[in-house]
Amino acid sequence: MRKIEKLLVANRGEIALRVMRSAREMGIKTVAIYSEADRQALHVRYADEAVCVGPPASSASYLRGDVILEVCKRLGVDAIHPGYGFLSENAGFAQQVQEAGITFIGPSPEAIELMGSKLAAKAAVAKYNIPMVPGTEYAITDIEEAKVIASNIGFPILIKASAGGGGKGMRVVERVSDFEEQMQLAVSEATSAFGNGAVFIEKYIGSPRHIEIQVLGDTHGNIVHMFERECSIQRRHQKVIEEAPSSVLTPELRAEMGRCAVDVAKACDYVGAGTVEFLLDENKNFFFLEMNTRLQVEHPVTEQITGLDLVKEQIKIAQGAPLSFSQEDLTISGHALELRVYAEDPTNNFLPDIGTLTTYKRPQGLGVRVDDGFEEGMEIPIYYDPMIAKLVTFGKDRQEAIEKMIRAIDEYQITGIETTLPFGRFVMEHEAFRSGDFDTKFIERYFQDPSVLKPAPTQDEEAMAAVLAALFAGKVKQSTATPTSSAAPTGSMSDWRKNRLK
Ligand code: ADP
Ligand code: ADP
Ligand code: MG
Repeated sequence: MRKIEKLLVANRGEIALRVMRSAREMGIKTVAIYSEADRQALHVRYADEAVCVGPPASSASYLRGDVILEVCKRLGVDAIHPGYGFLSENAGFAQQVQEAGITFIGPSPEAIELMGSKLAAKAAVAKYNIPMVPGTEYAITDIEEAKVIASNIGFPILIKASAGGGGKGMRVVERVSDFEEQMQLAVSEATSAFGNGAVFIEKYIGSPRHIEIQVLGDTHGNIVHMFERECSIQRRHQKVIEEAPSSVLTPELRAEMGRCAVDVAKACDYVGAGTVEFLLDENKNFFFLEMNTRLQVEHPVTEQITGLDLVKEQIKIAQGAPLSFSQEDLTISGHALELRVYAEDPTNNFLPDIGTLTTYKRPQGLGVRVDDGFEEGMEIPIYYDPMIAKLVTFGKDRQEAIEKMIRAIDEYQITGIETTLPFGRFVMEHEAFRSGDFDTKFIERYFQDPSVLKPAPTQDEEAMAAVLAALFAGKVKQSTATPTSSAAPTGSMSDWRKNRLK
């Protein structure tokens, strides 16, 4: 076993803190890197040492693999944890880390490269009996041929970037006459966003649920799965609410999907923590989507139901230890939910909101976990992902986890910035979510009128409204001569309501 003594976390925000916490419990020294925009960040203060790696833009700081390796050499770092996003799925970086004699906490560069391409991944798992979404197995270049294939599959179809990620690089095509234009747009988008214009066709599954399986492999050839997470509540093909276990999987289906996920991991000799993503259709047929070769944003829900610390497992595996449990040792206990608290305005198409956390008070209590990287008074930098926190609740069953989530959302106080908290409450109270009868179309189907987020007035508000109404009436009487002033009380009333919502 190679004991890791000093770990550099090549990331920021909540995930940097979360990784450092586990490292500290294991007696490992931690090094933070930060950009000029993150000087005051919590991960910088938490680490034993911290080094500024450049200006705010990611490309000038968190993505500077060369600078990060320099820091490692200077400070005697023996391992790098990449978190998620940034360099976590960059095979070239993983290779350079390895060549510098530093442990990369993740799979081999070969596995990252293979699974980083959705097409190569599908080809690699072809020899196992894994169901795939019908579509092309190669990048499409000939538009006429592609049109024929698309018509055979049947519209609507999806044109997808092979190198895509983060919900980007996908285009739904409804009819053959739109195909050519959409394909050209898809190729140019893929080229500019991922530096790779390869696109392919997939059948567009109408009402799928997103179910993914957490896997863990060691350097001795053991691979287990840690059950599923359901991530069907999405906006822009990106997850907002996740849970474990899923409310629709039977033990048989769970075992079958688990087995497939382990096979996908075997197909690339996977080492470390990874996630195999599937779509599940209305008839409970599942299809392999892709594998993410890193720690996933929503990993805490799996930790809550299995009692395992995934970061510690990653570190132990990187140190060369065999897994200390087998598949049969793993069981599901209770139910966990995660709400990604984004600095986004759910009443305005979930557009990112910018500003300062004027008030920031976390919920607490039994069954509530908050993974975040901010404090009251801090600004949400515009340069990075707008996630403020992950609010996780854990209960003996789904019902209890939902009750705790509603309670925690109500306790969470954030002003100065719009967040996804009110949307989270809407979902938790929605019959479709509560009954478990929902899919990735949830927002499209049930959240077309965001004004539903405005809460019913409380007693205090009603009393205040009565006072304002009386004042307003008085003003109107006085102001018949100056009608322009009559707008003011209404305006202040809605501002006051709006502030309360924040
Ligand atoms: P997860 O896949 O863990 O559920 P996300 O899809 O939200 O979570 O991705 C996690 C982070 O990684 C986000 O900050 C996202 O923007 C980023 N990300 C994911 N894939 C890519 C990619 N291919 N290129 C750039 N950033 C990515
Ligand atoms: P990314 O790399 O961006 O995470 P994925 O292939 O994992 O891309 O897909 C992200 C989301 O897009 C899925 O969770 C699902 O909601 C939607 N999606 C992807 N492929 C399909 C498909 N063939 N049919 C319907 N929805 C899809
Ligand atoms: Mg995905």
